Amino acid sequence: MPNATTDSLYCLSGAQILTFDADNTIYDHGEIWFEKGEIIAVCDSEGFEPPDGKPVTRQHVAGRVIAPGFINAHTHSYSAILKGTVEKDPLDIYMLSVIASGAAMTPRETYVSAQLDALSMLRLGITSVIDHYTERPALTAEGLNAVCNGFSDIGIRATVATMFSDRPYIESVPIDRQALPQDVLGQYDAMDRPDAEAYFDLMDAALRHRGNETDRVHVILGVDGPQRCSDLLIEMTGDFQKTHNVGLHTHMLETKTQAVMRNPAKESFVRRMVELGSLNDKSSLVHFIWGQDDDIAAASEAGVTVVHCPQSNTMLGAGICPVLRLRDQGIPIAYGTDGSNCGPASYLETLRLGAHLMRLTEPDFEKWPEAKDILRESFQSGARAMGNTGRIGTLAPGHQADFSVMKPVDHWHRPMGDPILHLFYYETGESVESVWVDGVETVKNGMVMTVDEQALIAEAEEIVIHRRENMPSGIADAVAAQYPAFRDMILKTLASDETEMERRVTLR
Ligand SMILES: [Zn+2]
Repeated sequence: MPNATTDSLYCLSGAQILTFDADNTIYDHGEIWFEKGEIIAVCDSEGFEPPDGKPVTRQHVAGRVIAPGFINAHTHSYSAILKGTVEKDPLDIYMLSVIASGAAMTPRETYVSAQLDALSMLRLGITSVIDHYTERPALTAEGLNAVCNGFSDIGIRATVATMFSDRPYIESVPIDRQALPQDVLGQYDAMDRPDAEAYFDLMDAALRHRGNETDRVHVILGVDGPQRCSDLLIEMTGDFQKTHNVGLHTHMLETKTQAVMRNPAKESFVRRMVELGSLNDKSSLVHFIWGQDDDIAAASEAGVTVVHCPQSNTMLGAGICPVLRLRDQGIPIAYGTDGSNCGPASYLETLRLGAHLMRLTEPDFEKWPEAKDILRESFQSGARAMGNTGRIGTLAPGHQADFSVMKPVDHWHRPMGDPILHLFYYETGESVESVWVDGVETVKNGMVMTVDEQALIAEAEEIVIHRRENMPSGIADAVAAQYPAFRDMILKTLASDETEMERRVTLR
């Protein structure tokens, strides 16, 4: 792939540049200068004098808008080949299909799916992503290499958080076991218990090669939500974090069925993780819908980042994250599109829906954050969750040259009002003309330059057909056999007042 190691200075000039720096500076006819992947100046036209003798590669991009690349703080790359497979299942029903299908992906399938996910994101102006990487039945070095290489080769910036949990699914939800068929219970009981030691050994080896946060692709821990983990695993996670100073990215309290799985003393999940040493300012909690007051206080004290995923939260009917309450407690809010089977990779749709939901939870409209604040927060907090604070998310000297160049000429951008309001309320990602990551033009004229797009899509389609033809039989039957008990569990839990909180809407 192209690299940014040439000695040339690069300058894109003539565009309107939205810097999202501390003052939200906008240059109407600006220039952005960068060298070897790092921004060296952002200024008005002719505001920077290059050193004598340095070769300059210049592009005139008048009529365009340049903004920092979006930071998608939560996806699951394996789901790029599962688009259009989920309709209206809540999370717990959806999980039944995932577990029943159980089919492992080959390293090549993992690689292709990661590249396909990255392709969609890059084309929509996303330059950085956290992949909560899931491998079934267990994490392997080959799978982890494949996903990292997929991102590395296509040129996106990626933090790969390896998912792991050690409690059987059936023990992580408030299901009435008596209501499940005996043979289904037998299958759950016969499943292998994941080996935590093997996971940490693998991560120890992986961090030696891919643990550097300043590398474009690096790995962190992804030990999953506490209801899916034993205390021992959470303790081991805390110990590993201390010895390796590594980040953690985890799902947290996505559904009410998870919230009711607190221990009998009703101790808050988040505080329990903090006390076991596994949450700190290098941790990010995804969803965090059903946190009680003490969960929120503990998250704030620990300094974690929360990743808001309003598209999947609403598509799966999980609930509304109390974002304004979290912001009031000083918790940084990043945004994620979540897996491609739970909605498109459109970051701007995610931000918009997030903003709209805040307005339905807070009657005092003076407290609604402005578009520029949500955007800036999404850049800053996304960088924090990635482990890249101060390196990405702002167009300023010293930051990486990660940005997109948009040509806002479509009818919904004409006539053009405030450019930030246009970006936030009208842009779909379709105006993206080029995307630069680490100073490399990774998307040019709307096409990803680092892969053969058509060949990649064709291979992904072959993979889907092959996997469908070779899917173990009886998946639909296995889901159907459990469906009544799970439906009963979900409805009973939603109707109960056990959690003493509400995160869904009842109209009256
Ligand atoms: Zn997720």
